[in-house]
Amino acid sequence: MKIHFIGTSSAKTSLKRFHSSIVIKEKDFTLLLDAGEAITKALLHQYVYFNSINAILISHLHPDHSSGLPALITQMHLDKREEPLFIYSSINNIEKLKDLLYQSYLFQSRLSFQINFVAFEEGISFSVDEKISLMGKRNTHLDKYILNDVNKQLSFESTSFLITFANHKIHYTADIGGIDDLYLFKSELPTLLITEISHISFEDVLIVAQNPFPHKILLTHYSDEDKQNLDDFLQKLPEELDDKIVLAEDGLLLNLSS
Ligand SMILES: [Zn+2]
Repeated sequence: MKIHFIGTSSAKTSLKRFHSSIVIKEKDFTLLLDAGEAITKALLHQYVYFNSINAILISHLHPDHSSGLPALITQMHLDKREEPLFIYSSINNIEKLKDLLYQSYLFQSRLSFQINFVAFEEGISFSVDEKISLMGKRNTHLDKYILNDVNKQLSFESTSFLITFANHKIHYTADIGGIDDLYLFKSELPTLLITEISHISFEDVLIVAQNPFPHKILLTHYSDEDKQNLDDFLQKLPEELDDKIVLAEDGLLLNLSS
């Protein structure tokens, strides 16, 4: 299985890197994790063709993770896609994603392909491919907005994921609220942690890195301003953690054995 970093920037738009997004590829199956603003250009930059994507997973509804979805569906249609597309998100977000496409005039009856929306539930594992299964758990990223929702119409679902493939257990944080969210899948002993580094500190990452699990930590979702500080931290890492913590860049490709 390949993990391909399509974008590694935070919510801050950068001319050097695209918003955080990852492609997971196993043989003919391709899953896109998050589709923020400019995802179509980000994919083209990485030579990932729109209609090679079988499924899209949306972690939450912040624009740097979801607002590129209508543009991507439009490109798939313009490329005359015929294969069905699966869109996965939490049961609390899925109707809002349907509405986003509807409000963008992307009516199912006018599209060249079928979109299958699949809602997952908290803590329940589901398969996206023969060999890849996922489990989502709600994290605290959006809790700070609850008081703003005077009309009680928002979803506060921001999901972190455990991706299981062969002997690998990958904890993908998407966006989180703080260090406690790094332990959402603690009992599963994740082998790899892919974490955002905008809402936690490098010290938080160092604390997690002291444990035998995960074996490796990839940092993503950082601004251009943060990059210098992160590079400085990484240069001062103790030798035993030198290979364990890596700052991901757009285009980074990781191969996981099956
Ligand atoms: Zn974000």
